[in-house]
Amino acid sequence: MKAIQVKQVGGPEAMEVVELPVPKPKANEAVVKLAASGVNFIDVYFREGRYKSPLPFVLGQEGAGAVTAVGAEVKSVKVGDRVAWTGLQGAYAEYAAVPADRLVLIPQGVSDQQAAAAMLQGMTAHYLSHDAYPLKKGETALVHAAAGGVGLLLVQMAHNIGARVIATVSTEEKAKLARGAGAHEVILYTQADFEAETKRITGGKGVDVVYDSVGKTTFEKGLNILRPRGMMVLFGGSSGAVPPFDPIVLTQKGSIFLTRPSLGNYISTREELEARSGAVFGMIAAGKLKLRIEHTYGLAEAQQAHRDLEGRKTTGKLLLIP
Ligand code: NDP
Repeated sequence: MKAIQVKQVGGPEAMEVVELPVPKPKANEAVVKLAASGVNFIDVYFREGRYKSPLPFVLGQEGAGAVTAVGAEVKSVKVGDRVAWTGLQGAYAEYAAVPADRLVLIPQGVSDQQAAAAMLQGMTAHYLSHDAYPLKKGETALVHAAAGGVGLLLVQMAHNIGARVIATVSTEEKAKLARGAGAHEVILYTQADFEAETKRITGGKGVDVVYDSVGKTTFEKGLNILRPRGMMVLFGGSSGAVPPFDPIVLTQKGSIFLTRPSLGNYISTREELEARSGAVFGMIAAGKLKLRIEHTYGLAEAQQAHRDLEGRKTTGKLLLIP
């Protein structure tokens, strides 16, 4: 089978198409023939070595497809079942062996591509808006990179909750998408100062929560636009990592809260994985959550997919179709 392997960490060219044997399932595993693999920013962090994985490794944290073989102990899925997963390395490939307790069944009304597009970014948008900071009707949230993969889903979920969303994006085209997803106000943060704009929009009151995946270039200003006791949810660093930080700043900005969450801690039990994936699939099947899958690439085009993602050229979800 073909797979995208990283032998040495580095730029997009560090991803090589290699030929590997189709995996055989261990006793607790199922082998899945991938219909689609999700491309996520976390893949960039692993590829460049910001997050560590033993070398060599097959990249990719999200996939969906059909079960082709199961290990002796597996009872929860069978050959032919449509399944999806996230949070394990190895999805940029034609086949992957996955522990069965990490697989969820894809319900009717959700396609394989939709499932691959929803597991990581959809469940992230869900835990951010429902658990990390449980948004309430009438509250105001600032969502950075709102036309991105997580961004477009988070805006829709916040809007569905009845919150007011202020979105930041880099281009007019992205602004249109953010508005279409339900953002009430959109700031082109590459042209205008989002701190001043947010203060103006909120009449100086500030927002209840900032959802920040951009990190280095946005974090500090984001602290200045929170209401007293508001929350900064820093969940990524697409522009680079936030430098070391003195907690006294939280006091000075109004006894604000800071969390730096990760999806893994919000789907760590089987119950939570099933509940969260079920909630996201339910929103998709009911037409309440629209996935924007504009960019699909062949496995061999993984390098281009990463260049586009890092180059801020993409909107919504990117998929590799093995
Ligand atoms: P996106 O589709 O959001 O792509 C990244 C976006 O970030 C770009 O499109 C761009 O939007 C914006 N951006 C701002 N500055 C830069 C920069 N210097 N370089 C590149 N992009 C920049 O990616 P994902 O949806 O896959 O991921 C979004 C973020 O969320 C990532 O940081 C990721 O690590 C994080 N994440 C965290 C999770 C968690 O549980 N903690 C889980 C999932 C994702 P624009 O052009 O509008 O500025």
